[in-house]
Amino acid sequence: MTRVHGASAVVTGGASGIGRGIAEALITEGAHVMISDVDAAAAEQTAAEIGALWVATDVSRLESVEELAATAVAEFGSIEIVVNNAGVGPFAPIAELTMADWRWMLDVNLYGVIHGVHTFLPILEANPHGGHIVNTTSMSTLTPFARLGAYAVSKFGVAALTEVLQLELEEAGSRVHVTQLVPGSVRTNIAQSTRHRPDGDKGALQDAAIDLSFSSSTHWLEPSEVGRITVRAIENDDPYAITHPDRWSAVAKRFSRIEQA
Ligand code: NAD
Repeated sequence: MTRVHGASAVVTGGASGIGRGIAEALITEGAHVMISDVDAAAAEQTAAEIGALWVATDVSRLESVEELAATAVAEFGSIEIVVNNAGVGPFAPIAELTMADWRWMLDVNLYGVIHGVHTFLPILEANPHGGHIVNTTSMSTLTPFARLGAYAVSKFGVAALTEVLQLELEEAGSRVHVTQLVPGSVRTNIAQSTRHRPDGDKGALQDAAIDLSFSSSTHWLEPSEVGRITVRAIENDDPYAITHPDRWSAVAKRFSRIEQA
């Protein structure tokens, strides 16, 4: 079991939404937390409100994630928990996406997690008791949603990375555990994420109102609930943290694919 009490944790995209919910839940359970976010002002404010340290990080840039890791090691001495959660979620039909749209989405959502795993895995492996990595995917890996094509491609990449890493670490007898966090619909600002896009090409990707076509029958969770579920998954070394029991049929479909493989 991974011990959360007394552990040092890094949470990317921790200034708001799910990342903030996870950071707060970790702090409640006695962890020392550093949040990182591309929105420095929001990160500073959130850190002050929840009692965390903060660093400005753009997860789409490897050097920025390396700086985050160096700062966290200098501050904490060791890092036991890493939550690769930063992500953006604007919408557009695949036929309308520009190449710049694809690149931005994959740079943040997929390369952001690749950078986190590449940078932090050796640091966790060096701990005598190992550590824990959480990577955030999405229900879009379980069931298709129109206009979420680029987002789903990025999240399928994170799901594949996480599942293969789990397998390899297990085969190697590693003390590092990995959880795939699969949130359903959580009340956050994810649908207004084009503000994080660097200036220049505006592309086809649009922010969306929160009343998405699939939302009327959706059970919305608060980030604090996702935070508690994630912390429980870390403590139990669960390979998955699936936040929406009402979506079990989609989950079962995906799991049966995994089991058949
Ligand atoms: P959010 O917008 O509230 O939080 C995302 C955070 O990531 C923001 O604070 C933002 O500033 C930060 N961020 C954006 N680009 C970044 C970058 N390049 N580098 C570092 N930080 C960056 O949204 P959220 O819903 O809390 O999203 C968190 C994660 O949960 C994302 O990976 C998202 O895809 C995933 N998710 C959310 C939902 C949902 O319903 N909200 C569902 C499934 C998955």
